[in-house]
Amino acid sequence: QAKSDGRNDYHFFAPNLSAGVLEKLKLEAALRGACSRNELILHYQPQIDLNTRHLQGVEALVRWLHPGLGMTSPADFIPLAEDIGIIGEIGNWVLREACRQMHQWRRDGLHIPQVAVNLSVQQLERENLVTQVREALRDFDIPAQCLELEVTESLIMRAPEKTLSALQELKSLGVKLAVDDFGIGYSCLSYLKRLPLDRIKIDQSFVRDVGRDTNDETIVRAIIGLGKSLGLETVAEGIEEARQVSFLLREGCLSGQGYLFGMPLPAEDLITQWREQIPGQGNRLH
Ligand code: C2E
Ligand code: MG
Ligand code: MG
Ligand code: MG
Repeated sequence: QAKSDGRNDYHFFAPNLSAGVLEKLKLEAALRGACSRNELILHYQPQIDLNTRHLQGVEALVRWLHPGLGMTSPADFIPLAEDIGIIGEIGNWVLREACRQMHQWRRDGLHIPQVAVNLSVQQLERENLVTQVREALRDFDIPAQCLELEVTESLIMRAPEKTLSALQELKSLGVKLAVDDFGIGYSCLSYLKRLPLDRIKIDQSFVRDVGRDTNDETIVRAIIGLGKSLGLETVAEGIEEARQVSFLLREGCLSGQGYLFGMPLPAEDLITQWREQIPGQGNRLH
């Protein structure tokens, strides 16, 4: 029991250890085991040729099926995984699972041109990422150009030279590189010409109000123009309305993803929903 003079209070939780902090500690503990308990899954969101509406590829997005909380968003647990230093493990799982799934699709005769995987900064800084990517491609027999790696603009902006050279090394494996969430980092753009990039993904915060907000339209137009002049493809994120598509096509952005075309889905559901679009045996089977 607590003594009233307070000298023995050390075995009680400090008042600032609020319920929120305890919840966070529990969540951390649970997240540490999530990978080994097979609680992570990937959903795949279609990336579309805006002209033909054909499937260009898919982006792999991780989800955590927490036993109590249900499906947890990567926006919540990826930052936590970075904090507690386990993003390397999770990131490598994502990479290998995406390659395994691509292998299975190819084996089933389903031609998905490419899969995109999101990278966290710590994967580039700490882990032997180049080796991990090379091994994943080799183990699942995936041609390098079928894998795209997405790094956020804010990651690239803060990255030291060593990290940037890891990107160069990755590129030399033959994989594609995309800048994710482009436009919100807003400062120095010189990295765009120093890095061997393939695509820039226009952040959904700008795409959202195309058709409503001329400032956002101006920004999107500028990003597309920037991409063009640097020889980079642009991909619009978060497309929800048809008028966004017409604007993007008019301005010369030819690829996109968003709820208008398809939500991120488990692998089987993606195939069921997109079967007509996927060349290969799978087409003839149904
Ligand atoms: P992101 O890579 O920019 O992915 C796009 C996010 O926008 C996804 O959220 C996707 O579900 C959502 N989205 C797609 N279309 C629409 C739309 O039309 N409207 C709206 N409002 N949202 C749309 P999600 O899956 O919750 O992922 C959030 C972020 O978590 C991702 O943003 C990415 O930065 C990160 N993330 C996801 N998977 C991984 C991973 O395996 N590794 C790392 N390091 N980060 C990941
Ligand atoms: Mg992404
Ligand atoms: Mg994004
Ligand atoms: Mg994002």
